[in-house]
Amino acid sequence: MSCLFCKIIAGIIPSNALYQDEQCYAFADINPQASTHVLVVPRKHIGSLAETSEDDKDLLGHLVSAAAEIARNKGLAKGYRLVINTGDDGGQTVDHLHVHLLGGRHLTWPPG
Ligand code: AMP
Ligand code: ZN
Repeated sequence: MSCLFCKIIAGIIPSNALYQDEQCYAFADINPQASTHVLVVPRKHIGSLAETSEDDKDLLGHLVSAAAEIARNKGLAKGYRLVINTGDDGGQTVDHLHVHLLGGRHLTWPPG
């Protein structure tokens, strides 16, 4: 197993778990860009959003729904942002699909 996030899901690499269910695992980003910075990842290995198909529609909805639930649990009543960096131009550095949940400060737009 060479994928970093697959190793985290398997418990081979430690992480700070914040939410989990049968389809996804969520943990604190090791290099947080806001006071709340959570990564929501599918248990199934998918390289990126670009590698998903129609068959993954339910799973993708589940990831977004889980992120919204975590945001509620974190009390992010003033708002938050979900980000899915995809591919080189998208700034993706770990090749296992993940949703960033960022909150706890005012986030600027546009991104860099
Ligand atoms: P991306 O650049 O969108 O692929 O996001 C990858 C994220 O994974 C970055 O925000 C990293 O800080 C985060 N990351 C890398 N290694 C770990 C780790 N061992 N535990 C938690 N987060 C990590
Ligand atoms: Zn993986």
